Amino acid sequence: MDKELTVGLDRKDLKVSFADRVLGRSMEIRPDLLILASAMVPDAEKTPLARLYKVFLNDDGFFAEAHVKLRPVDFATDGIFVCGLAHAPKSMDESIAQAQAAAARAVNILAKDFVHISPLVSQIDVEKCDGCGVCTEVCPFGAIILEDTVGAGNRADYRSKNIMALCKGCGLCAASCPQKAIDMLHFRDRQIVASICSVV
Ligand code: SF4
Ligand code: SF4
Repeated sequence: MDKELTVGLDRKDLKVSFADRVLGRSMEIRPDLLILASAMVPDAEKTPLARLYKVFLNDDGFFAEAHVKLRPVDFATDGIFVCGLAHAPKSMDESIAQAQAAAARAVNILAKDFVHISPLVSQIDVEKCDGCGVCTEVCPFGAIILEDTVGAGNRADYRSKNIMALCKGCGLCAASCPQKAIDMLHFRDRQIVASICSVV
């Protein structure tokens, strides 16, 4: 059935008009009863959850997968998967199929003794870091934390620490650090400057 569907009342009769792609022509039926599917709206409570797990919501307010075709049940944050109505309105069959896919993805991780991560991650020079916390605010993947280096609870002793397994190498933290205390491995400032100098 085509998406274009009109419903109207014609001399007190219910009339439904639509284009049938199989038959290749316009159709018109007069049903006794017309039942429309209930609207599904995303739960507004999702937003704090999305912030907590550093996952994204789409424009409609449902959880967004990392990539529609390449990673349809993965979130951008590693190790977290999406399925069912949290993702979008869908039938029970589709929800079950997606849940099986998400479970298979999770097992793929759990079955390994270790996982490989990208070498393109941030590296923090704690000697330069003053613990301002800007990097922890900007990191979209929760890959940097502030750590009390002395353990006395003194704010001045806090320094940032990156969790390489979570880092996606986006470079936001390095670009935001006011102390220039963060380098991106394999894309350090001096490496980029050397590349530029080699061609000018
Ligand atoms: S932004 Fe820079 S100075 Fe501030 S906490 Fe992060 S690494 Fe340290
Ligand atoms: S490079 Fe990106 S993902 Fe990695 S710690 Fe910095 S902001 Fe977070």
